[in-house]
Amino acid sequence: MVGGVMSGVGKGVATSSIGTILKARGFSVTALKIDPYINVDAGTMNPTEHGEVFVTTDGDETDQDMGNYERFLDTTLTSVNYMTTGRVYRSVIDKERNLGYKGKCVQVVPHIPLEVIRRIKRAAKGVDIAVIEVGGTVGEYENILFIEAIRMLKLRQPKDVAVVMVSYLPVPSKIGEMKTKPTQHAVRTLNASGVHPDFIIARSDRPLDKKRKEKLSQFCNVPEERLVSAPDVHSIYDVPINFEKDHMSDHVLSCLGLTPRTKPQLGPWKAFARKVHSVEREVNIAVVGKYFDTGDFVLSDAYISVLEAIKFSAYKLGVKPRIHWLNSKEYEQGVPRSGLGNYDGVLVPGGFGETGIEGKIHVIKYARTHDLPFLGLCYGMQLMVIEHARHVLKLRDAHTVEIRPDTLHPVIDILPEQKRLMAEGNYGGTMRLGAYPAHLKKGTIARALYGSDVVEERHRHRYEVNPEYIERLTEAGLVFSGTSPDGVLMEIAELPKGVHPFFVGSQFHPEFLARPLDPHPLFTGFVRAAKRHAGV
Ligand code: GLN
Repeated sequence: MVGGVMSGVGKGVATSSIGTILKARGFSVTALKIDPYINVDAGTMNPTEHGEVFVTTDGDETDQDMGNYERFLDTTLTSVNYMTTGRVYRSVIDKERNLGYKGKCVQVVPHIPLEVIRRIKRAAKGVDIAVIEVGGTVGEYENILFIEAIRMLKLRQPKDVAVVMVSYLPVPSKIGEMKTKPTQHAVRTLNASGVHPDFIIARSDRPLDKKRKEKLSQFCNVPEERLVSAPDVHSIYDVPINFEKDHMSDHVLSCLGLTPRTKPQLGPWKAFARKVHSVEREVNIAVVGKYFDTGDFVLSDAYISVLEAIKFSAYKLGVKPRIHWLNSKEYEQGVPRSGLGNYDGVLVPGGFGETGIEGKIHVIKYARTHDLPFLGLCYGMQLMVIEHARHVLKLRDAHTVEIRPDTLHPVIDILPEQKRLMAEGNYGGTMRLGAYPAHLKKGTIARALYGSDVVEERHRHRYEVNPEYIERLTEAGLVFSGTSPDGVLMEIAELPKGVHPFFVGSQFHPEFLARPLDPHPLFTGFVRAAKRHAGV
């Protein structure tokens, strides 16, 4: 899967959707993301610019598209499903240093594309089909070696590779007609790299008409039945259904020389998509974050998994989620007198650093003292603990050492082993990343929602609730309903039912496990409370 004309037209969703329709024909499918960045992982990229960092079960910090693949394919991917330029070069250099090239001159071509191919094959092992997304747009300098890898792979195994170009067809308002020229150019640019698209997915605000299909086919040298309309959609979960309107799975399978194993099995998917369109009663959820602004635009990409997780639970409960993005920087001086009465629930997602922290704490206090359903994720849970320490335990300067290393009351602290690593400058080694088990306490909200004694959830954080404060916090009414198996790390905090309608925080990121057809219990609990608050 390569992108033509411009970025941001939904290549990740198209990749996920192709995976979905092929899976629905009885094949096992995996997905790979190729990120052209030099960064070895997405952990060091700014979420405002790059979007969410999606954490895999084995603790890799990857691109947000990986989240779409997991959600659409209802699968669990690992670090083998993600590569960056940095990663590929690092492997080649390591191999060279280990005499792995046996005295050969190691060259950008073919050794870099060969390493890309090795990685693709490793990820595709044991599955029928791997859908691979090459980040960026054709014609860019950055992704040329990945396109070269595709060319080499197709040369060696022509029947095993189908190249799909996702392109954009503008309809300029002054002209009022869909223009194919930019796509024609994109195809030519791709041709210059020795690759020809087998399929073109035509992203536009409307479907391709007959005339445009003929024209695209003629000028881009792609048969009409391999041109797939991808008009703007109300919900990204409509996309697989739209692709099947053009019988895409049939055509892709025939291109790969495969016979469908079943008729398209998209029943549950279609039922979900119908629900997205039909629910009417609304719940208003405020998400308080800081990674929003890029110039004059507000982008919610940094919180995409959180947003999707809210949606899945809301649709399951038959309500439409209205999400309001509150910029925490605007609440630094406190919650305005008008309050947060327009919202049925408040969610504080993960984050790093000092910006907007006091604003989030003000909002959490408001939610606690106004019976407003609250869900805190990672930093959101840490701030919930700080708020409790400050306002219920009256430890006025309670804080996290992430912000105030010298605070008198470090209720969120770094554990001794991590301190040692940090002293050695090994910051990467101090993050708790990936899936860890949590034991749930009987009689708690968390235990009831999960319906299980032990759960595994994904983490991405450096700091923890300080064990020295657990007793006092517990006496002050906070219940630690989930802990690490040894009981040292606090994984879930909550206020008991009867004290508050829903006030729960998790040290992990439950959003990474939410699926359209299998929503996450913590989100469902939260949205159910919000629904009750809304009285709908
Ligand atoms: N900044 C916090 C920590 O490092 C929380 C991280 C997060 O929310 N993902 O522990």
